[in-house]
Parts: sequence; structure tokens; C-alpha cells
Amino acid sequence: MTDFVYRNGRLHAEGVDLTRIAESVGTPVYVYAAGGIERRYREYADALAGTDAMVCYAMKANDNQAVLSLLRNLGAGADTVSEGEIRRALAAGFDPKKIVYSGVGKSADEMGFALSAGIGEFNVESDHEVDLLADVARQMGKRAKIAVRINPDVDPKTHAKITTGKKGNKFGIDFDQAMGVFKRAAAHPSLEPVGVASHIGSQITNLDPYRAAFSRMVDLVKALRAEGIAISVLDVGGGLGVGYTGEDPPSVADYVAVARDAAAEAGCKLVLEPGRRIVAEAGVLLTRVLFVKEGSAKTFVIVDGAMNDLIRPTLYEAHHPIVPITEPKPGTAKRRVDVVGPICESGDFFAKERELGPVGAGDILAITHAGAYGAVMASSYNARRLTPEVLVRGQQFSVVRPRPSYDELIGRDRVPDWV
Ligand SMILES: *Cc1c(COP(=O)(O)O)cnc(C)c1O
Repeated sequence: MTDFVYRNGRLHAEGVDLTRIAESVGTPVYVYAAGGIERRYREYADALAGTDAMVCYAMKANDNQAVLSLLRNLGAGADTVSEGEIRRALAAGFDPKKIVYSGVGKSADEMGFALSAGIGEFNVESDHEVDLLADVARQMGKRAKIAVRINPDVDPKTHAKITTGKKGNKFGIDFDQAMGVFKRAAAHPSLEPVGVASHIGSQITNLDPYRAAFSRMVDLVKALRAEGIAISVLDVGGGLGVGYTGEDPPSVADYVAVARDAAAEAGCKLVLEPGRRIVAEAGVLLTRVLFVKEGSAKTFVIVDGAMNDLIRPTLYEAHHPIVPITEPKPGTAKRRVDVVGPICESGDFFAKERELGPVGAGDILAITHAGAYGAVMASSYNARRLTPEVLVRGQQFSVVRPRPSYDELIGRDRVPDWV
């Protein structure tokens, strides 16, 4: 965790003391380090120097307009999964040609919007989608560039809820059906099949599943060429993991080398769609301890953040490190505690049976590695206001999404006059 370090006993994001942010913005609050996001994007860009490649940041990991703007400034493209995400990418100034539109369920309206925006590539995932996109494009007098997302049937050895490239997952087209779908697409004058795509899952910490998937993709590219379908793009998806529990995932350079080799063998331009790897470690969720409740069997640290702010622990059994923002003295005894939120659900926890130094009411904790799939999944369950977000660069910080007021929260509803 290099973006957040203790200085003079206080945890800092770059040059900013997190205590200052917690006090001025309130808790819970997400804090992102701009330099960390940029550094991780550059790891990809540097590893790809000299390669015909495009890094399309998978913005479902963190879609804040300020985060998007940082990456757009560095030349990134965007991998999107909805009209809303395409609109966010356009609003952040992304070049439409660098927008890839992925996802297993696109509506005709969304397709039409994407076509009118002039996005670069549709990643299609079924024969029905091929036909629908062909219809929508024909009616608009447009020609859509498509990549077909295949399901290479490899096990990425990650959590079941983020495994996406094995037989039986809803994603992609079974490998043995792919040729038929490409031929069907090639027969539509309004479609231009240009690529083979895959995305086998998320939080992958070993390169072997990638090697297996990419080699199947390369085989398919060659088979398609033999059938006269000229494929020029290999879109390898995202999924590279981060060290939530101190595990040591492959370096970006090693991962990119595997992808680059595959693209070279296929004679294709390379498209990558990293999400988590770029933003996860550049974010923390700050939360304040409300009470420490000593049960007979357990000690509960009850904090003001909750599952509505960060759902990953309960959704994926995800482990997030938790540290106090005031540095514990060396050798301080730790206790085994559950860190839980105020929501009326047993699933509302950040950590169970976690060794934590002494904490008391009012202390602030940083839940680390929270920059990806954190704020984007927040909700206002229990009529809690959506979590605000702060971006830090050097000595300065800005609120990049304010906490809504209670009036905004309540004022969204309408009570019919017949009630
Ligand atoms: C979610 C997703 C990604 C990004 O996955 P990460 O694990 O965050 O890198 C890339 N491509 C597609 C199609 C996705 O659905």
C-alpha cells in the first residue's frame, strides 16, 4: 500500500493528512490518490510502448467523473457496460472511438445511443444480440464494428461471483459456437466483425488461466481468417488482481507480456480492459468508530460506514485491510474483533475475527484497497446518504462527489395525490 503512508504518526494520502479530510468532509468517505491511479495506468502504457494497443479502463470499477478525467488525460479509452457509462465517458471527454461497449444485455435503445455516439467497438455476446444490433444499425444507416466475446471455458480460480469465462457462466459465446456467430455477423451488411474478445473473470492472481484463454482466442482468430473473416483486434478483457490479503499478484509487465505475445501471434491490435488493477489500491474508505461493544463471545467495533457504502465483504467474502489513521505504537497488543456497520442485516460487516489494535469511540479507521467496486456499488439502503468521494493530489484535496443532503434523498420520491 504505497499511496497511503503514515507520516508523523498519521495516515496520509499523498501529502494530505486523512484526519483533515475526515474532519472537513465527515465520515464515511472515500478518498482516492490521483498519483496512484495515474501510476498504475502508466504501468500498462509503459509495458505496451511500441505495441499497437489500446487500454480501455473498465469504468464500472470506479466511474467518478474526476477519476475518468485523470485517465482520459493520460490517453486511456473506456470499457463500458451501459448507456449511462457511455454517457459518463463522453462527459469526461473520452474519444468515442476509444469506447468499447461490453455487456451481456444491451437494449435496442442503448445500442442506438452507442451508434449515434460513434463508439469504437461493440463486444457482442449472443447470436440474438448480433441480429438486434444488425437491425438497429441498418435502420440508422450505420455499420457497427463488433468483437464477439467468447467464453474460453477456463477456470480463473477466483471467487464464483466474479468468474465469467467458464462454461455455465452467462457471459460470452461458447467456444464451439463462436465460428457460427461470426459467420452470422459477417452476413449482415450493417456489421463489421473485427475482433475476438474475452474477459474470464476478476481478481485473477495467476497468469495461467490467461495463457489458456488467450491461446484459444488466437486459435479462433486463425480459424476465422481461414474462413475469410479478417480479424484485426484481440480484446483480452481485464481481471488482473490486487493484493487484498498480501497475496502477490503478477506484475502488470508480466501480464502485458502474455497478452502482447498472443496479439503478435494472432497478428492483431491489442485491446486491454483493466479496471480493478488501476484503482483498487488507490482508494480507502474512512469510517469512524461509534461504539466498541464487548459481547460475551465477541467484541464488535461498530463504525459509521456500512454495507451500503462498501458491499464487497458481504457480497464476495472480500478481505479489506483495516488500519487506524493514527499510527499504533509499535508492539501495541491487538484484539480479535468484528468490524460492523449500523445496518439491520447480519451481512453488514467489514471484517470478522480481525486482529485490530486498541480502538475506541471516535477513532477513525481506513478500510484500504477500496478504490474499485466500492463507491460505484454504494446505495442508500436504510435511508443512508450516498458516500461522498474525495480526490487527493499532492497537498490538495477536493470533494469530487458530495454527500447528498437529506432533502435530496427524500425529495427524489413522489407521493401520488391518491395516497
Ligand atoms: C468488469 C469487466 C472488466 C474489468 O474487470 P477488472 O477485474 O476490474 O479488471 C473488463 N472487461 C469486462 C467486459 C468486464 O465486464
